[in-house]
Amino acid sequence: MAVKPEEVASIIKKEIENYEDKLNMENVGTVLQVGDGVARVYGLDDTMSNELLEFPDNVFGIALNLEKDNVGAILLGGDTKIKEGDIVKTTGKIVQVPVGDALLGRVVNAIGEPIDGKGPIATSETREIEFEAPNVIQRQPVKEPLQTGLKAIDSMIPIGRGQRELIIGDRQTGKTAICIDTIINQAETGVFCIYVAIGQKMSTVAGLVEMLENHGSMKYSIVVVASASEAAPMQFIAPYAGCAMGEYFRDKGQHAVIMYDDLYKHALSYRQISLLLRRPPGREAFPGDIFNLHARLLERAAKLHEDLGGGSLTALPVVETQGGDYAAYIPTNVISITDGQIYLESDLFNSGVRPAISVGLSVSRVGGSAQIPAMKKVAGTLRLDLAQYRELAAFAQFGSDLDKSTAAQLAKGSRLIEVLKQAQYEPVPVESQIMIIYAGVNGYLDEVPQDRTREFETKFLKFVNDKYPNIGLQIKENKKLTSEITHKLEDAVKEYIKEFLS
Ligand code: ATP
Ligand code: MG
Repeated sequence: MAVKPEEVASIIKKEIENYEDKLNMENVGTVLQVGDGVARVYGLDDTMSNELLEFPDNVFGIALNLEKDNVGAILLGGDTKIKEGDIVKTTGKIVQVPVGDALLGRVVNAIGEPIDGKGPIATSETREIEFEAPNVIQRQPVKEPLQTGLKAIDSMIPIGRGQRELIIGDRQTGKTAICIDTIINQAETGVFCIYVAIGQKMSTVAGLVEMLENHGSMKYSIVVVASASEAAPMQFIAPYAGCAMGEYFRDKGQHAVIMYDDLYKHALSYRQISLLLRRPPGREAFPGDIFNLHARLLERAAKLHEDLGGGSLTALPVVETQGGDYAAYIPTNVISITDGQIYLESDLFNSGVRPAISVGLSVSRVGGSAQIPAMKKVAGTLRLDLAQYRELAAFAQFGSDLDKSTAAQLAKGSRLIEVLKQAQYEPVPVESQIMIIYAGVNGYLDEVPQDRTREFETKFLKFVNDKYPNIGLQIKENKKLTSEITHKLEDAVKEYIKEFLS
């Protein structure tokens, strides 16, 4: 940016003219340059980093760059109303958004203003969008499950309340679908959901909100939108705004889950802002503090100590990879910050394995403490069974003569793959997941033709729940597979297989 001499001259002139008033002018500055959602302001000597700045016409900004002779600010809301020479005031505050139960069922923008046409939001409570994460004394280890309703995740990559689990994959691999199914599955769990859409098309978000409405899921959810058509600053602050809304529930001793969809686009918006503010670019032209920024955001997810109410905020950040490259800058950053990742693959997606979860590359580092004992028991060998199946299947392509045990392993593996497939918007309750996985890992499904596995699943679950509702109820209540229930379940499976095959 070249500073024009006449500008400097006019500023000096003004300074001289207003010399008398100088004492009152201390926290007031003038806009030097404005455009692309950022402004450079001269004369704000006492500004704090991240302070809220007031521009004319009710436009607000955030001071990001504090330089020797000027302040670089991002503008929230339109930059068209702002022109050079406009007066800017400091406010002594940092940006706040409305929080509270009144936001449930609403769609808001990055500063918490409603954009769903349902009128104003009736809450007087606000919260700063940047908030210090709970420290080690204020936390406790993750211990309750956050059920997604997706068999493949709840059985092999269990998520716990307060955990941070990354959903990563190329475009169009079902990342958003996992978020939506997880929201739908919270209908009876009392977990509030906050979905933050960053840089997506407005039409995509509208479709998603409609879907949630149709499933009755909006009443316990908040959708925060900074669409692709909005300026970079709005996309940049959206996750922080959503996080503040989630922390409200966490600090009240309640439970919430927040999805950031997605942090790659968030990083892009920050890169754009930083380049406009002339910060030195680092790897892949991203500013060097993007790691810190994402780490600080995700650190706010936590399971609080009982003394603080025992509430939790679970974070499910989404990152889009380019051409399967999860070793790129942003993906590796977020992988190293989170407690595990659900890795989605285009190849699997296209071959019909949906959700397209790559079992080998996905982990949850919180593991078993986030699973109920019954699920832990049936799913214990699932990963291993699938790994063995993949290995054998690669060999079996060459040979025709298979010994009996190999054939059996192949049969079982292929059924398990079928069992883990799941249609969208159809979350399965955990007790039903346990029943069908039990049938799979114990080889009962081997007799069922592979292409009829899913049909079997649907009918079998209906059969058990109609004829032996106690099995499901007891698993749900005791969370354990006692030998008594195991026997009942075994008998039910055997009985229904006969009926199904005849
Ligand atoms: P983008 O990169 O565009 O954000 P995404 O990775 O979020 O894509 P989705 O939008 O969730 O992917 O899904 C892509 C498509 O796949 C959608 O049309 C969706 O309906 C379909 N899809 C996702 N999951 C499943 C599933 N389990 N079964 C069938 N179809 C699915
Ligand atoms: Mg998506």
